[in-house]
Amino acid sequence: MARSQGDVAAAIRAKLASGELPSAKPLKLWVGNGTGKPCMVCGLSIRAEIFEYEVDIAGPSADRRTTLRFDRACLDVWSKECERLRQG
Ligand SMILES: [Zn+2]
Repeated sequence: MARSQGDVAAAIRAKLASGELPSAKPLKLWVGNGTGKPCMVCGLSIRAEIFEYEVDIAGPSADRRTTLRFDRACLDVWSKECERLRQG
């Protein structure tokens, strides 16, 4: 069953609000073939035939980084929602 972008955006906003997903600016972005690990937003495993996007952000402390994993659709929506939060 396909999810609409609106559903994904709502899920991301909820996760951003609860702190489950950070809204920090990406430091680095990697793209590679999926490894079957789950997307942090929709929870679906990212299969080898689609691209997996790994985003590094600063935190939780100054000398540490956190890596987030998304599929393309969720990455796009996450970026947009973060942008919106930063703009207030
Ligand atoms: Zn996803």
